[in-house]
Amino acid sequence: MADIKEGWGFPGTSKKAHYFVDSMSLCRKWGFYYGSLEQGNDDSPDNCAACIRELAKRKVKQRRQNAKEVLDES
Ligand SMILES: [Zn+2]
Repeated sequence: MADIKEGWGFPGTSKKAHYFVDSMSLCRKWGFYYGSLEQGNDDSPDNCAACIRELAKRKVKQRRQNAKEVLDES
């Protein structure tokens, strides 16, 4: 059983894909979504613009965190 906790999903009547983390979309418009999630495809024109912006910020934060971990190890 794959246990993917984040990715793009199409909730209910939404025509756009939103990026979900722990069942809540990054743009905060959609919550409690437990449908299928797709990783990657971040540049799809069907993606919610607010979610794309939040996802970009999230990735920067994660990269900083990883860089810090590497520094801490050395
Ligand atoms: Zn969204």
